[in-house]
Order: sequence, then structure tokens, then C-alpha cells
Amino acid sequence: MPRPIKAAISLDALRHNLAVVRRHAPRASVFAVIKANAYGHGVLRAARALAGADGIALLEIDDAVRLRDAGFGKRLALLQGVFEAAELQVAAAHDLTIVIHNQEQLRMLDAARDSARFDVLLKIDTGMNRLGFTPRAARDVLAGLKHHRAVRRLTLMTHFATADDARGVAWQMQAFDEIAAGSKLQRCLANSAAILRYPETHADWVRPGIMLYGCTPFADVTAEQLGLQPAMTLASEIIAVRELRPGERIGYGGTFEATQAKRVGIVACGYADGYPRHAPTGTPILVGGRRARTLGRVSMDMLCIDLSGISTAQIGTPVTLWGEGLSADEVAAAAGTVSYELLCALAPRVPVIEA
Ligand SMILES: *Cc1c(COP(=O)(O)O)cnc(C)c1O
Repeated sequence: MPRPIKAAISLDALRHNLAVVRRHAPRASVFAVIKANAYGHGVLRAARALAGADGIALLEIDDAVRLRDAGFGKRLALLQGVFEAAELQVAAAHDLTIVIHNQEQLRMLDAARDSARFDVLLKIDTGMNRLGFTPRAARDVLAGLKHHRAVRRLTLMTHFATADDARGVAWQMQAFDEIAAGSKLQRCLANSAAILRYPETHADWVRPGIMLYGCTPFADVTAEQLGLQPAMTLASEIIAVRELRPGERIGYGGTFEATQAKRVGIVACGYADGYPRHAPTGTPILVGGRRARTLGRVSMDMLCIDLSGISTAQIGTPVTLWGEGLSADEVAAAAGTVSYELLCALAPRVPVIEA
């Protein structure tokens, strides 16, 4: 028998979550964000399940080319644009929508082959301070791009830094409107958090990522409360059972010490599978459908769990690391991170099945 770990990806859940996006933003077109191997779910698989979206957005040009070659006919956007002139030719040949966020990319566009035409997302930095033109700089850039021979369709874009917390989007919307007010150009603004909380950001195109995969962008609202379904379930089994005596410790560093006799299970899942090594003792986990907790340090290929009160658990008992029945959001919170990181860390060695 193979090592029992596997990730089950639910195509129905992906479709369901896209419908939730539609319900929140009924008038906007949707770029389904499938960067980072579709947050670990597989680019081609996610694109197939999300075929009802109006476009796909990602970072990796190779994946975009793969999708075009596989017959994907809608808009395909590169969220950071191209990194060198050669990629611009590839983008032209495959009709990719490109983000333009800096002067270097503008120069590449100016130098593009005469016949090349692009759909462009002009990225405006309204306060995130990572990529994009400041509103002041954007005015000139915008004027230059409006009638640029290489630009077919121009869309204004920005990205929100605090749509998921109390600071909200108003401060960035204000900066964005300085540029966009009065313009007839289409706009593309909202990530998952803004889609769910700020209808005024929906505009013409939205860019959901995490919510498509069934996780919450918020610290204070669960995915379940948002009506989202987990698309990835990471599951494995108990491969050994130990009885600790009082005073005995488990795992590297012996960070967990039993104060009383304790039955523990060893699960075939470790940080080389994508489970966070920094998940502390007490991180939630499902054993045979019941909630339990991890013990001690996560190893490369296994982790340890508390079987107190779960006397039926034995070798072969199924374990859910996250997904159906236990949100990746909850595991991530226990480990001091966000579900995004867990999902996209799913290791290539974990077999994936479609469910
Ligand atoms: C990742 C990303 C998104 C999606 O964000 P979520 O929080 O996952 O919805 C949207 N826009 C850009 C530019 C991104 O990089």
C-alpha cells in the first residue's frame, strides 16, 4: 500500500465558491485568481472547474501559456506583467492580458513589435506601496497608454492592503478615484475580502482568490459563515500508536511531556508534505471524524496526535489535517499563519485526487 497521505480537490466546491462570488458581485466580471498553482489546487484542474469565470489571473507565464494551449479562450491576465522583453512576445502570441506596474514594462511595451496588441491592466499604487504607479505618476502614464499603438483594451487596477480588517478600503478608494473619476475605462479592484465586504469596489472586474478555494480572508468571520466550501482536503492515516508513561516526551526536542499515561497516534504527514512545522502542540486535527490535537514538534514526514478519549483510533484510522470538517483557516490560525500559506505549500509529493 502507498503512503496513505492524499489531497482531495473538490471541483464542486470550486464551482460552488465561484457562485458565491457571483452572488456577491452580480454585475462584475470575474478574474479567477489561480496563481501559485491555484493556491495548491492545480492550475489546469482549477481552470477547468472555474471555467464559468470570465477570465483567469495568475503570475506564471508558463502556466498561462499552458492554459491557452489547452484551449482556454477567455482573458488570461499576468498579475505582475512580464519580466523581460522576450516574455512580451510570448504574451502577444498567446493573447495574454498584461499588468503594467513600472516604467521598465512601459519601455518594453514601447519597443514591442509593430503588430503586437495587448489588453493592459494599468496598476495604480493607492497605498499598498508594493507595485504600481502612484496616482501622481499614473496621470501621465495613463495619457500615454490611452492611445498607445500596442494597447487594445486598457483597464485601471489597484490592490487593497486592508480590505480584510477594520481599516477597510475607503482610504485607497479615495486615492484611486483621483485617477479614475470621470474616466470611462473599466476598473478591476476587489480581492476576496473586498468582494465580500465592500460592494462599492466591485466595479467591472473582481479578482477573487482565497474565497474560491473555500477559505476566509477575514480573521473574525469563518468560511462556513460566508457559505464557502473547502476545496482541498488533506487527509492521511495513523501509522503507529504509542502509550506514553508519565514523564515521557515525544518527538524532536521532546517539547511535549506527558504528565499522565497518554495514548498517542503517529500520522503520516509532515512538513515535507506542506504541513506547517511551526504548528504548536494543540493544533486542531480530525481523527476518525473527531477533533483532536497535535503533540510536540511536526517532523518532516510525520506528526503526533493526542488520542485521549478516542479509544477506537488505531493504525489505519483516517485523519484529516484540514479541509472537510476542519477549516484550513483554523489550522493556520493555530500555527500563526493564514490558510493561503498552508494551501499553496501543499508539496508535490502528495498525491492529488479529484473528488
Ligand atoms: C492574490 C491576488 C488576488 C487575490 O487575493 P485573495 O485575497 O486571495 O482574494 C487579487 N489580486 C491580486 C493582484 C493578487 O495578487
